[in-house]
Amino acid sequence: MLNLVIFGAPGSGKGTQSAKLIDKYGLYHISTGEVLRDHIARYTELGKLAKEYISKGHLIPDDVIIELLDDVLNTEAAAKNGVVFDGFPRTIPQAEALEKLLEKRGTKVSGVIGLEVPEEELVERMLKRGQETGRADDNVDTIKNRLEVYRNQTMPLMEYYTGKGLYMPINGTGVVDEIFDSITDNIEKIK
Ligand code: AMP
Repeated sequence: MLNLVIFGAPGSGKGTQSAKLIDKYGLYHISTGEVLRDHIARYTELGKLAKEYISKGHLIPDDVIIELLDDVLNTEAAAKNGVVFDGFPRTIPQAEALEKLLEKRGTKVSGVIGLEVPEEELVERMLKRGQETGRADDNVDTIKNRLEVYRNQTMPLMEYYTGKGLYMPINGTGVVDEIFDSITDNIEKIK
């Protein structure tokens, strides 16, 4: 099993690189952001709750998102060679929960790919994505909050995973395929 966490600020390219990873290694892609956006589009109860948080750039409460992940792991994910976790974990309690959820299934996190991109470039990329896709939280005010939330609640995970010997820093700027090559070079070392 190859269980990868793809880690980075909003706009760092997690979705783009995840798509390439699942293709190359036959992994199951879990993007908590995408799962939530799907709930919003279907007007579910979870979707209504998620919309409140996402539109402000805040995180969905840990207990809600952990339960959601547990459910997703019980579905098709089990049939694959492993999972790419994209946008999860985003807090230390989520990382601890992930460890337990995987342990329960007899597996663990193989490595954490940290896409490192300077903040000015993140903002530029998200504004462009907002224009191209109409993604509702890619607007100036929400982006500001999302970056602050990232700095305060998510960045501590870098140290957390470095301490466990799992963090692999990747320069997330430049050409998509070259970034992907440096990711796969790192993965070959842990396979
Ligand atoms: P993303 O598509 O990963 O950028 O996520 C979009 C938004 O969904 C985030 O700004 C959060 O509001 C919410 N979200 C996604 N994943 C999580 C998570 N693991 N914990 C809490 N909120 C999340």
